Amino acid sequence: MTGAPAPSVSGVIPTTGRARRADRPRALAAAGLPTGEVAVVDDRPPERVAVVDDRRQPTGPPPPEAAGEPRPRPSRHGRVAAVLFDRDGTLVEDVPYNGDPTRVHPLPGARQALDLLRAAGLPTGVVSNQSGIGRGLLTDTDVRRVNDRANALLGGLDIWVYCPHPPEAGCGCRKPRPGLVVEAARRLSVAPSDCVVIGDIAADVQAARAAGARGVLVPNAATLPAEVEAAPTTAPDLLTAVRRILAEARGGHP
Ligand SMILES: [Mg+2]
Ligand SMILES: [Zn+2]
Repeated sequence: MTGAPAPSVSGVIPTTGRARRADRPRALAAAGLPTGEVAVVDDRPPERVAVVDDRRQPTGPPPPEAAGEPRPRPSRHGRVAAVLFDRDGTLVEDVPYNGDPTRVHPLPGARQALDLLRAAGLPTGVVSNQSGIGRGLLTDTDVRRVNDRANALLGGLDIWVYCPHPPEAGCGCRKPRPGLVVEAARRLSVAPSDCVVIGDIAADVQAARAAGARGVLVPNAATLPAEVEAAPTTAPDLLTAVRRILAEARGGHP
């Protein structure tokens, strides 16, 4: 599923402008990291797995199609059963390797977009590369505290999944690989092909594609023109992206 390594995209993440992720080569011992494999744990993550933080109550809301509206007919675009978001630069301001919850600031429209999705009964999730953990710049606890703060400010998403590995690890979860998207979908009990992934760089939409999901690029000042050009779908801002998805989920047109 993960296919060959994607050298053409390995340079994408570190070249996204101001808040670049500073992928400095680092002699990280990749010892034991399972190439191409995504292992998952629930709450107490070992260090070498994609980490899932399931925020849903045991009796969560039913799938959106049970919410009273007729289920949209599957189209060649597929129906929409969940919306997954990149975190940094998409939902919150991109503060590289941020471990400080007080520096979490939602981007304009993020809260409203999520309010709309919640009101529509569409599950939401976050799929986030957090290589700062693997680089030794952040702890898993740091990331969780930042996620907690973001989750509170954004009104609560259903699932948070993040990759703690450095790029050199060759894991299956770091975007543009599909692992995070696949795992988030699994946790939400939806098919990856029924998910839309919204992000601000090419790796986000490439991860979506690799998982069989749809990607929507919402460019920001740090997004490269080439990334915008290559994206299958773009939207000018987060709220517009979500409104279009909701219109489609309701069987209408954007
Ligand atoms: Mg981002
Ligand atoms: Zn990973």
